[in-house]
Amino acid sequence: MRSLLALAVSAATLAGGFDDSVVQRYHVRIDWTELRAPSCEQIEASAPEPARTGLDFSYEIPPPRPHAGGGFEGRPVFRLEQVVIEAPRVVSWPNMSATDRARAEAFRHALFHHEVGHVVTAEETMRALQSEPLIVAPDIPSYVDAAKEDARAGEARFKHDQDVYEALSDHGRAQRRVPPPLGGRDTILFCVDR
Ligand SMILES: [Zn+2]
Repeated sequence: MRSLLALAVSAATLAGGFDDSVVQRYHVRIDWTELRAPSCEQIEASAPEPARTGLDFSYEIPPPRPHAGGGFEGRPVFRLEQVVIEAPRVVSWPNMSATDRARAEAFRHALFHHEVGHVVTAEETMRALQSEPLIVAPDIPSYVDAAKEDARAGEARFKHDQDVYEALSDHGRAQRRVPPPLGGRDTILFCVDR
């Protein structure tokens, strides 16, 4: 059963529980990686987002139903499958102090939270698409044309929403700019105290 995830989450659950609940709710597969480098600085200087989220967005155009006032009605059905988060289980470099380990863990959790944000953003897109009004068309060919157009618009919206999330959060480096519950700690690894 789907619920209004974004609205149902309270601030108190944001420390890890939120990410876990998203992972469970959407059966997210997690492919753990290891991020090891000769120094903290090398990790800091590496890819802006050393993690990724894979989402298979697809659609299908089911046959329309007869519309009460004549003609046909229906709409494309959108699906989100194969949700995979690839993220480090380990972030490390040689001779880490306890402080280094704490920094690495905070970075790792922030990164994971950013990836979870991609999943939640996709779910919000899906919810918006599924609440669009039905297409009503006089005949089947014009229904199919309209449905294809809706499907393409849905696909474009999915991509746009992901791009907006990425741009707003700057790949997680400015996660603080994202509204709750997706906002959070920036995915920046500070190698020295500041
Ligand atoms: Zn991202």
